[in-house]
Amino acid sequence: MDAFMSILDTCRRYIQLIQITDILDMAIIAYLVYRLLSLVKSTSSEKLLKGVLFIILALLLSSEFQLNSLNFVLNTLVEWGVLALIILFQPEIRRILEQVGGSRFSFMRVLGKGQQTSAIERAIDVTASACADMSKSRTGALIVFERKILLDDVLRSGTRLDAEPSSELLKNIFFVKAPMHDGAMIMREGRVLGAGCMLPLSRNVNLSRDLGMRHRAGIGMSENSDAVVVLVSEETGSISVAVGGMLKRHLTVETLQLLLKNELLPKEDEEEAGKKKFQLKDLLKRKKDGVGHE
Ligand code: ATP
Ligand code: MG
Repeated sequence: MDAFMSILDTCRRYIQLIQITDILDMAIIAYLVYRLLSLVKSTSSEKLLKGVLFIILALLLSSEFQLNSLNFVLNTLVEWGVLALIILFQPEIRRILEQVGGSRFSFMRVLGKGQQTSAIERAIDVTASACADMSKSRTGALIVFERKILLDDVLRSGTRLDAEPSSELLKNIFFVKAPMHDGAMIMREGRVLGAGCMLPLSRNVNLSRDLGMRHRAGIGMSENSDAVVVLVSEETGSISVAVGGMLKRHLTVETLQLLLKNELLPKEDEEEAGKKKFQLKDLLKRKKDGVGHE
């Protein structure tokens, strides 16, 4: 009992020593660790993190067991590794710093969120309208809507843009004689960020044989990230959407628009979201039953 009381007493003394700056210190460290973990998650670099942790563990063990040469090599590796990581994650680090800079005033964030939603809504509307025209004119298109997972690697393979989307711009990019018509267009937060980008091909061997490279690239992108990919077939004019490795084919423009809104816009209150889901299910069912085919 005495021992318990003394532990309690020690705890009390330690708690009394805690100052407001210590709490602030811990909160900042917790936030930085949280951001680091979300960065690792959003860039699918778990393997890289495992590698870094392994090297740090090996470094500690080599110093503990006095394996001097190994310790020297690992030490040098870590010194250069930090630099390499900064270079490797430069776009992500920049984005986080920008976000930190932008999150200073919460009312500005709320305002920004509203603007972002309307930008995405606008991007969905122009995409649907451009897809309707491209479907009629049999113009092939591949449009990737980025979500949480950043697609900077994919963007690097194409031409970087930063443009407000419009139906004309989209049709211009995918116009068969235009220099950027090959490859995919990337949309981030309602803006056209790049075009002519190379996407990873799907590794699914069970895909229908009538799906060519464009559709396999679209499905591949949706397998490798949380992106929503819109496709227009050059051969048939059919509109499809790939999400999570699944391809929804032969969509009407109305279904496309609803599906994109459902996937990309922040969820409103339960009732509204439920209504939209029901509408979408109904449209997809009618499509299956042969109603509303283009
Ligand atoms: P469609 O129905 O439009 O013919 P498809 O699925 O049959 O589509 P292909 O005919 O093979 O596909 O389409 C080739 C086009 O797909 C290329 O010209 C290129 O624009 C695009 N494409 C192919 N591979 C990729 C890739 N890895 N990343 C991005 N775009 C790609
Ligand atoms: Mg083809």
